[in-house]
Amino acid sequence: MDTEGIVIRIKTPAGDMDSAVDCPSLLNFNDLLVAIRDVMPEATVTAFEYEDEVGDRITVRSDEELKAMLSYYYNTMNEQRMNGLLPDPLQIFPRAGKTPGNRNIHGLKVNTRPNPANDCTQAVPDSMANNSLKKSSAELKRILTNGQISAQDINYQEQLGHGNGGTVYKAYHVLGKRVLAVKVIPLDITVELQKQIMSELEILYKCDSPYIITFFSAFFVENRISICTEFMDGGSLDVYKRIPEHVLGRIAVAVVKGLTYLWSLKILHRDVKPSNMLVNTRGQVKLCDFGVSTQLVNSIAKTYVGTNAYMAPERISGEQYGIHADVWSVGISFMELALGMFPYPQIQKNQGSLMPLQLLQCIVDEDPPVFPVGQFSEKFVHFITQCMRRQPKERPAPNDLMEHSFITQFNDGNAEVVSMWVCRCLEERRAQQGL
Ligand code: ATP
Ligand code: MG
Repeated sequence: MDTEGIVIRIKTPAGDMDSAVDCPSLLNFNDLLVAIRDVMPEATVTAFEYEDEVGDRITVRSDEELKAMLSYYYNTMNEQRMNGLLPDPLQIFPRAGKTPGNRNIHGLKVNTRPNPANDCTQAVPDSMANNSLKKSSAELKRILTNGQISAQDINYQEQLGHGNGGTVYKAYHVLGKRVLAVKVIPLDITVELQKQIMSELEILYKCDSPYIITFFSAFFVENRISICTEFMDGGSLDVYKRIPEHVLGRIAVAVVKGLTYLWSLKILHRDVKPSNMLVNTRGQVKLCDFGVSTQLVNSIAKTYVGTNAYMAPERISGEQYGIHADVWSVGISFMELALGMFPYPQIQKNQGSLMPLQLLQCIVDEDPPVFPVGQFSEKFVHFITQCMRRQPKERPAPNDLMEHSFITQFNDGNAEVVSMWVCRCLEERRAQQGL
């Protein structure tokens, strides 16, 4: 996609709001919605529209539709240029449930083009009346420019957990007005390596799947990297007790779809395990912590020595591995989630999933574990058995996973099952804690 900067003009009842977007390819639907809501704080904006060449309004409600709008706009822009014209800004019309109340700022035109002559902070005609718009125009520009988040804009709240690499906090992003999960990892590495990690993480901006946690930004402060992602209010699956099969089935569908998406981008997850599967009260299931940055994975591994108990036998033995290794990890994770315990009884995971290599040798040497008879459906047992075949090639390929009868059976888009289950478990947990 074209990465040339563009100007987006938000048409609001109070006037036009122009904003320069330096990297349109990094822009996502949610960022734009957040920016629109900033300009129209009293309205409930859930979508916006643009006009095609014959003046028909086309609605944008997703990243995909946003991409379509941008590519339509690039075409018009090119045509205008070929005709010797300056391209018009991309005009969008927010679709609001309720229009702003008593904001009497008729005909206001704010221009935030990077050109200093048009500096937005000076172009506001009536600074008294338009203070809030002036402020949001600056905010808007920051949000739209590259969606980046900086350390000083984050208010840390509680600690969500601590893993082998770092600590995860719930946090509030003041400018973006949203809750985040921020993973902070101490790393003593050179500035060169820091730069390499940042560029390797860039691919995360392009990950766009409802089954993958949304990445917002990453930054280094001193010797720590902070990785800001979407917050999932149900947390990770490792803290849930035995999960019933009809819930587990819906979760498995999301996990398989998330992995299939990553594999289609030639990304191996490399760390599939219950603590990297997140759920929320809306019934969404998303994968996190996949290894897009080799340098980050290597730098963490230098500090935290051990082998992951969910790794496929070929990885434990140090052999080459591929997609099939992620498939093994799906099998062992779902077996644990169904049983409510790690499937190899001789492996006691106390804290985290890293173990001394010798303790995991049984995964390489022994036959994969089997389910107790009669407690689980044939389809589920078959699914797990196939995923946990010792020979990587005998495990299901991505298509076979999607087409497995256990997956197709639960591929009904019913988010309510997971949603109700998450809400009930959270309530039980609160009751136990006496909250
Ligand atoms: P590892 O370091 O090997 O990945 P881990 O997954 O247990 O181990 P972290 O990734 O540091 O450790 O995560 C710690 C905990 O933070 C998780 O178990 C999860 O409960 C919580 N967590 C992580 N990301 C989010 C998120 N986006 N939303 C809500 N909770 C999260
Ligand atoms: Mg994790």
